[in-house]
Amino acid sequence: MEAQDLLGISFIIITVFLIFRWLSKRYQEIKSNRLINKGLVYPRPSAEEMRQEQQAFQKQMIRTHNEYYEKMFAGKEFINQNTSSLNDFIINTEMNGYDLHKLAQLNGIKVEMAAGWTDLALNLMMELDKTGWNREVASIKEKFGELRFYAATDREDILDKYSKMSKSICEICGKPGEHFSEHAWDFTRCEQHRKT
Ligand SMILES: [Zn+2]
Repeated sequence: MEAQDLLGISFIIITVFLIFRWLSKRYQEIKSNRLINKGLVYPRPSAEEMRQEQQAFQKQMIRTHNEYYEKMFAGKEFINQNTSSLNDFIINTEMNGYDLHKLAQLNGIKVEMAAGWTDLALNLMMELDKTGWNREVASIKEKFGELRFYAATDREDILDKYSKMSKSICEICGKPGEHFSEHAWDFTRCEQHRKT
């Protein structure tokens, strides 16, 4: 056999292979188009399936949420350590930062601010407690360089008072600080933490 024959045979083999590949691709396309037209490829989930999916998602969210707090609370001592409902949540001067996180956990939220404002938030809770607050809070966070504690209360004046106070306390360390803007963001920081 000569080299030219070999080349010819290889060419034929490659051509047949390419044609075959193209045909099988085309076949797959036609098949899936047919399925789409029949509505079989992406069937709409039934109401029951959607409900189950939603439930599974919520369960996963709760699991992730609890794991976050389990890790945080491991080996720590605080007066609400064993509190399991908002009704039983203890508010007094013995509270520490973990109690604030516990309150967040029981409300299904996370504390979204740095630890420098912890005492401020605890004092706010004690003041709200005197007004008969049900311990419900939608959000505990930093916004525009201020503490925002969105509690279920009509005593907006108390919430506002603490927001104003936070504007002169460093969010990082709790020392006296200054409220300022940088790169379109607002912060309240002491001199030392101004750069963080
Ligand atoms: Zn500081």
